[in-house]
Amino acid sequence: MVAATPPAPSAEATSASPAEAFWRGLARGELLAQICRSCRQRCFPARSRCPDCLSADLDEVPLSGRGDLHSWTLVRRGGREMETPYVLGLIDLAEGLGRLVAPIAGVEGAAAEVLLRIGMPVRVGCRRDAAGAVRYCLRLD
Ligand SMILES: [Zn+2]
Repeated sequence: MVAATPPAPSAEATSASPAEAFWRGLARGELLAQICRSCRQRCFPARSRCPDCLSADLDEVPLSGRGDLHSWTLVRRGGREMETPYVLGLIDLAEGLGRLVAPIAGVEGAAAEVLLRIGMPVRVGCRRDAAGAVRYCLRLD
């Protein structure tokens, strides 16, 4: 699973790390996976080596950003990043590359029971927090 917080930019890096490429893509509105140039295996989340052949020759490929709601929960207590309560969703990515967990935008706690159904289509969106950092979220279609 991709960390919910973008990594700090690396001053030594000469090219974008897989995580940096992911967050840059998200800021452009793209949810990125990777494809191995050696064996064509797709993988998500971003990593430095192919999980099948261990090649480091990976390209970014955009995903649809769509998925089905697998589960959700109401978070009543949390850290400083988000005001509570909020609804956290877990989705199965449409491309079958795994799951992603993120807050569901626009769904208040009390409405979650009415609005959310397991298996319903959702899409991954991009938002900026109060500090202007890129974060991902889930949106209902
Ligand atoms: Zn590979």
